Amino acid sequence: MPVIQIQPRLKQQVKKVSEVLNIHPFILDLCNQDCTQDELLIPGFFLNESDFRAERIDSFAHLEELVKESEKTRDNWAGERNVYNSKIIEKDLQKIIELFPFVRYRVIGHSVLGKPIHELTIGDAGAPKSVHINASFHANEWITTSVLMKWCKEFLVSLCTNEKHFGLFPIEQFKQTKISLVPLVNPDGVDLVLNGPDHVNFDTDTLLSINEHQPDFNEWKANIRGVDLNNQFPSFWEIEQQRKPKSPSYRDYPGYAPLTEPEAIAMSNLAEKSQFDRLLALHTQGEEIYWGYKGFEPEQSQKTVELFGSLSGYKPVRNLDSYAGYRDWYVHRYSKEGYTIELGKGKNPLPFAQFEEIFQKTRGILWTSLSFAD
Ligand SMILES: [Zn+2]
Repeated sequence: MPVIQIQPRLKQQVKKVSEVLNIHPFILDLCNQDCTQDELLIPGFFLNESDFRAERIDSFAHLEELVKESEKTRDNWAGERNVYNSKIIEKDLQKIIELFPFVRYRVIGHSVLGKPIHELTIGDAGAPKSVHINASFHANEWITTSVLMKWCKEFLVSLCTNEKHFGLFPIEQFKQTKISLVPLVNPDGVDLVLNGPDHVNFDTDTLLSINEHQPDFNEWKANIRGVDLNNQFPSFWEIEQQRKPKSPSYRDYPGYAPLTEPEAIAMSNLAEKSQFDRLLALHTQGEEIYWGYKGFEPEQSQKTVELFGSLSGYKPVRNLDSYAGYRDWYVHRYSKEGYTIELGKGKNPLPFAQFEEIFQKTRGILWTSLSFAD
């Protein structure tokens, strides 16, 4: 926890403290409820080792000096572009929870190989609305995790300063909308694509056979045992069963029944319990946004997708001959807004060189997905 020792008489000057730190009093207050008189928790504050040993802060000049240094480190961290496998993401999630103690973290399930599937929740517990965003359902679409993680950091840093983005004040959104993020739905598959079959704890011959004996795994979308997680949901699943592969495959095999895979079960349970008002699934590629589903989508979806389209340049597509996906099932079951957003253009896996362009086009969608105002 980024806590420093401070003279109580300084801490009591809330307005001044907030100015020096450039952190909104609402967020400071939120973070300091469990602190003592002479402790100050500064969200987003990077402490270096000498800070831990430092004497108690006894002047605003001293505080200012510490903050300047920390801000640089924080902004470098938040601005990073990372490729995330299951190990690397854990470090960054750990950092997020440590730096922003109001972020709630839990494991919603485990992959076939026992890796945790993480969820972050941000927002006031009493917020009336909720949005869920997930990434990397498909293994070779791992760049979506990079996009979601970077946006998450951008949101958290902006929340501290209450800096306006796309016409929205983050604190207002925090009070109105709970955000649920599952940035890596398919950790085993992503590890396989990024690190190769020798670095996952699964029989290599089986993997090669599922991969039709291709030596590289760049086309792999499935989970580690060859089930396409985004074909696993009980919404016209039989259509996909009829026309998709009948046995484990690097892509498209819907399983022998819906919801046989632990990753899909975890995501299904999450939606059942949380009943989100809006759901975004990040995929690649095509620069399109799928928003309708056999007429089960609510009327509001059209308005929302038009805004997403205008902010990103991505093309809204109402109907698609595709079923049994997470979003499909969600829209079907709950008649709520759901969007599959196909980021970027090219051949999967999209080269990481495209990251910045994709991120810039996607930011507006992610930000405005928090707003339910008309
Ligand atoms: Zn996909």
